[in-house]
Amino acid sequence: MIKYTSTKGGVSSVSFDEAVLQGFAADGGLFVPDQIPGVSKEQLINWSKLSYADLAFEILSLYIDRSIVPEDKLKELLINSFADFEHPKTIPLINLEEENQLYVLELFHGPTLSFKDVAMGFLINVMDYLLEQRGECLSIILATTGDTGPAAAHASVGKKSLSCWPLYPKGMISEEQERQMTTLDADNVHPLGVENCADGGDDLDLVVAELFADPKLKQKLKLSSVNSINWCRVMVQAVHYFYAYYQAVDTVGEEVIFSVPSGAFGNLFGGYLAKAMGLPVQSFICATNSNLTLKTAFSDGTFRKFDLQQTVSSAIDIVVPYNFWRFLYFNSGSDPEKIKDWMTCFSETGEVHLDEGTLRNIQNGFRAVSISDDLTLSTINDFHSQKGYLLDPHGAVAIAAAKEQQSQLSTNTKIICLATAHPSKFPEIIRKAIPLRNQLPPSATHPSLEKAAKLCQNLRICDCEHLKFALIDSMTKQQNKNN
Ligand SMILES: *Cc1c(COP(=O)(O)O)cnc(C)c1O
Repeated sequence: MIKYTSTKGGVSSVSFDEAVLQGFAADGGLFVPDQIPGVSKEQLINWSKLSYADLAFEILSLYIDRSIVPEDKLKELLINSFADFEHPKTIPLINLEEENQLYVLELFHGPTLSFKDVAMGFLINVMDYLLEQRGECLSIILATTGDTGPAAAHASVGKKSLSCWPLYPKGMISEEQERQMTTLDADNVHPLGVENCADGGDDLDLVVAELFADPKLKQKLKLSSVNSINWCRVMVQAVHYFYAYYQAVDTVGEEVIFSVPSGAFGNLFGGYLAKAMGLPVQSFICATNSNLTLKTAFSDGTFRKFDLQQTVSSAIDIVVPYNFWRFLYFNSGSDPEKIKDWMTCFSETGEVHLDEGTLRNIQNGFRAVSISDDLTLSTINDFHSQKGYLLDPHGAVAIAAAKEQQSQLSTNTKIICLATAHPSKFPEIIRKAIPLRNQLPPSATHPSLEKAAKLCQNLRICDCEHLKFALIDSMTKQQNKNN
């Protein structure tokens, strides 16, 4: 059965439950499976008509030992995790331009209207189940660029063994996203707005990493993480590539291209995993905005930190795409010594030069494309006026990148673009993009957000400089209250 090891090699291998509950590996690395299970052509064909939840069951069964989550329990957890998705197909695939073979995979029909719901519901549910079995509790703490926080907060409501602490850079996420966290009626969810984050969500990640690096504190506060460093999320994110594939192709075996708006590289790592398992993918487009870390890494093998650029696709304004370490691990011979050296070098100098072999491996089947804000906005406008389809800024980045590739490669392979948020989460950007000014189209609103706009907010604010102290104080007080 699959065991999980750290990309840095500093911990002995653990089973699925430990990898999920610990979040970060104790040596500061990320958990990876010791093998990637293969899927035969026959199996691929057999899965092609399954519902999303049934397909997820088949795929996750390859990674989760039955002695940890029994078959019936896994089925039940999956059904519950997707129960409040609004669309009967959970994540429908839309054919936008038949002549161009362009598809959109709508990943935003979950309760908080972003692709984060796709994996977060299951992660929180499985954590709660595992903790209940053990009679333990955990505090999950996470930094968010806007969508992870709401998804985690929503999924945590009413969970007896979990408290949830989403941290967000105040003023750098949309009001709608903030309200999704601050208007929940739950006494185990404690959102915290953090002011003066020069590097946005990455500043918060640093503080979270500091807390995790202190074993005594980690123990005392019972910390865990549901950021996409948590293996469970990237694993679940492999499923939607299979599901989209089956909806797009005429025959199993045909190759497709995926275009993925990428920030921390968790979604795209799910795609890599799907391909490594045997899904016929010709290539992936790593679609980014003017934050260039991924683009530069794929172009010339320099993995380096740039200053944060605030763009209209704020959920992918990420300086350090930490799931890239997982990708590098598998593309550099699964050598933990190498990753350990690179991670040290990166944290000391902000830069790593990949060796030629690794660069060749990561370029195989991957292309990174950077899309300007102007092109993102005009793409939203074009698709709205010409097709009557309203994209959110992140879906627009994926589409713009796909169009650019289509014209450059003159390919007629089907391209599946991942739309990662509902446009109603970004009304200010939609206003900028389409010249209707004051009047938003109906598809730019959503009843759940209209309701949240009318409720009182439970706002708690602190300064980035004092975040660590404020958080420890707040968590300790909450613990005392619960005891
Ligand atoms: C999180 C997020 C992304 C980026 O996903 P990664 O896994 O961080 O690459 C893209 N779009 C939206 C709307 C998101 O919330």
